[in-house]
Amino acid sequence: MSAVETAVENLPVLIVGQGIAGTMFAWELMTRGYRPGDDFLILDAGPEFGSSLSSTGLINPVVFKRMTLSWGADLVDIAWDRYGALEKRLAREGYARSFVDMRPIIRLFRSRAERDAWQAAGGALGLPPADDALSGHRIAPAGALAGAADIPGSGRIRPDVLLRGFRSWMEGCGGLVRGILQTSGERPPSAGELSAAGIPSTFVPRSAVLSTGIQFRYGAGGGRRPEYHLPDRKLLYYPVKGDVLELSLPELDGLSRGRILNAGISIIPAESPGHYLAGSSYIRDFEDPSPDPGGAGWILDQLHPLVPALERKELESRVLRRRAGIRPASRDRLAYLGPVDSSGMTEGKSFYRSFNGLGTRGYMLAPGLARILADHLLEGTAVPAELHPGRNLKPS
Ligand SMILES: Cc1cc2nc3c(=O)[nH]c(=O)nc-3n(C[C@H](O)[C@H](O)[C@H](O)COP(=O)(O)OP(=O)(O)OC[C@H]3O[C@@H](n4cnc5c(N)ncnc54)[C@H](O)[C@@H]3O)c2cc1C
Repeated sequence: MSAVETAVENLPVLIVGQGIAGTMFAWELMTRGYRPGDDFLILDAGPEFGSSLSSTGLINPVVFKRMTLSWGADLVDIAWDRYGALEKRLAREGYARSFVDMRPIIRLFRSRAERDAWQAAGGALGLPPADDALSGHRIAPAGALAGAADIPGSGRIRPDVLLRGFRSWMEGCGGLVRGILQTSGERPPSAGELSAAGIPSTFVPRSAVLSTGIQFRYGAGGGRRPEYHLPDRKLLYYPVKGDVLELSLPELDGLSRGRILNAGISIIPAESPGHYLAGSSYIRDFEDPSPDPGGAGWILDQLHPLVPALERKELESRVLRRRAGIRPASRDRLAYLGPVDSSGMTEGKSFYRSFNGLGTRGYMLAPGLARILADHLLEGTAVPAELHPGRNLKPS
């Protein structure tokens, strides 16, 4: 079968979920000429339930803990390319202002050991040498910093501007409807299930991409993904909660000078002058999805050495807002990409494809994985074996 025949057979596509995964998959289809509302439709329960809006949206290919590059570091270029093109298009359509900040994040070394690890890994990873005197970064020394360096390939996407802008655009052209897909089986959803989800009867999906993240019920007896019954519930998820604080901290202005910093936590200049976002915590063990006092405390502990003039108590009083989200993560920390159903797990033409488990680096990975998934869906190419959902099924 030719690539074109395969593509025709597979369209139209129902994209379930408009987090960063669903958004960038829809945009990938559009860059290939597919039309929202006709060739694909996005169904979303509401982004307020997802992880992408709570996210800090940073793109950073370096794993500091191990001083290596993360899985998918080679997808950074395509990420910048796709985000840049989408930013231009959304501005042209009148739906969003700028949301891409390609200025590299500045890594601050809090000790000689951190700086030495950076220098040692530098040659192999292509990292620039540390700026020991901080003069190149025009940073006002704070605490006991041992230097700074630009993180190559890093930067930031503003999640709220991108996601809300794309959502309005898609709603405006009939490419997105609000609703929840529930289906108990692996077969395509019935006409009744589609209409219950608010999908117009004119749209008949031939395949569905599940970019559904993780849902978490509030309160006692809560569970993972309890509300929705889709085939990807069979995959093993290890959700990780993350907190983000917004603080009034003009004391950081001299250090940041409008740039994003990383010093164990990330520090991001917010909209209002002197305000910063700081995050994110990494909490595996949690009962509910609300902001976590322990997570907030950990963030403040990391932040405190950078503003030594402030008492720890004073720092606490500078917190203006707290938010938390749940990262959809897998046990091996790799995404779930490709066919998901028990009969066609190896390759096959299953109705459902998973685009999930993006973990801590969803913004870095989503555009590149969207390209791989689109190639798979439309041209029949294989997804990388290490991402195949079949590797990690719950025992039945
Ligand atoms: C605090 C925090 C900070 C983070 N910081 C970063 C960062 O700096 N950089 C980075 O790269 N990553 C970061 N991440 C991780 C990143 O945000 C996630 O990997 C990413 O958001 C996952 O996106 P997603 O589209 O898979 O899922 P989600 O954003 O959860 O989207 C899923 C969508 O599907 C919808 N949905 C679910 N089920 C159904 C259904 N049955 N029917 C209809 N709709 C449905 C949901 O309502 C939701 O809108 C962070 C995460 C958190 C929580």
